[in-house]
Amino acid sequence: MKSKIYLSSPHLGDKELEYVHEAFRSNWVAPLGPNVDGFEHDLAEYTGVRYAAALSSGTAAIHLALVMLGVGRGDVVICQSFTFSGTANPIAYVGAHPVFIDSESETWNMCPDHLQEAITDLEKKGNRPKAIIPVHLYGMPAKMDRILEIARQFEIPVIEDAAEALGSSIQGRKCGSFGDIGILSFNGNKIITTSGGGALLSDNKDFVVKARFLATQAREPAPHYEHKEIGYNYRMSNVVAGIGRGQMQVLEDRIWQRRKNFERYKEIFSEINNRGYCIKWLDEPEGFFSNRWLTTVILDPMKNNGINREKLRLAFESEMIESRPLWKPMHLQPVFAKELYYGEKISEQLFVQGLCLPSGSNLTDDDWKRIEDVIYKVFA
Ligand SMILES: *Cc1c(COP(=O)(O)O)cnc(C)c1O
Repeated sequence: MKSKIYLSSPHLGDKELEYVHEAFRSNWVAPLGPNVDGFEHDLAEYTGVRYAAALSSGTAAIHLALVMLGVGRGDVVICQSFTFSGTANPIAYVGAHPVFIDSESETWNMCPDHLQEAITDLEKKGNRPKAIIPVHLYGMPAKMDRILEIARQFEIPVIEDAAEALGSSIQGRKCGSFGDIGILSFNGNKIITTSGGGALLSDNKDFVVKARFLATQAREPAPHYEHKEIGYNYRMSNVVAGIGRGQMQVLEDRIWQRRKNFERYKEIFSEINNRGYCIKWLDEPEGFFSNRWLTTVILDPMKNNGINREKLRLAFESEMIESRPLWKPMHLQPVFAKELYYGEKISEQLFVQGLCLPSGSNLTDDDWKRIEDVIYKVFA
């Protein structure tokens, strides 16, 4: 019986259990303790920000960022359309409206031109956006230079969704450190995982102290429980943070493995293209470094003898290999159908033609043989 090959499965190292054991041994089994402090320290040091708050998820981190920036009912927040719903849902949690922006074709992330167009247009209507949320999708950094320039011009804070991009960088500067607030995710399929978790990053101490406060039910300093604000139960537990500390020690290796996956797919598809096919992938622009969380390919059936991404996906599926269409843009999601959208068809086309390939850092030689067999069979 063949085992299933997953798109991106957890890959634990040797140290995670030691930290978890230590939490049990010392009875720090709560949403605070040495592992939480240690994990926050490791994250801040690695990403080059001054402070980090470990939270229950990346979605929770975005939610708290919006709350701290004072986003509320009737406000608008600019959001990359081509992303996972976890980026956009928190905008609805605070009663605000997302305004979705298309991608550009060099990084597949927020298009600065359409960003500028949207802000200018919204300003004219007297509705200056309260925040901008760019995303580094699949680990590829967004064009932060231009996005930040526009944000500064209009004095709008940036929440940088680096959930998929831990370890990615632009000119050596790590993703997660560009925005006023950065967020990370450690969900089960991310490049490192705590089984579930997230973090909020910032150079601004006030944001991080406030995030920890809001994440623990906004308890005022008093012997009894005193509350002046609505709080949340969003803190990371000390047991889970132990997994995170162990994972941080293998992060560089995981990035190296995933980048090797990309190179391997690139070799396979180059060879196939030499036989007359035209499969495309995303190379890094000058100075950009992707952690290659997931390797993705674009299959235009018009240029590939009628072979579309569904044909390749189903061929994988019949061999118990998981692959997945690229993210369906938020402006096409029924739940956000009424929201504004600025752009063209870049993200729509990526969704129609793109496929995420098995990209775990723990793929074995045997897994690779099964993956290659399917690809060569489809593009015979
Ligand atoms: C995973 C992810 C999130 C949400 O993180 P969770 O920890 O799953 O809540 C947000 N944005 C993007 C782009 C993601 O991939």
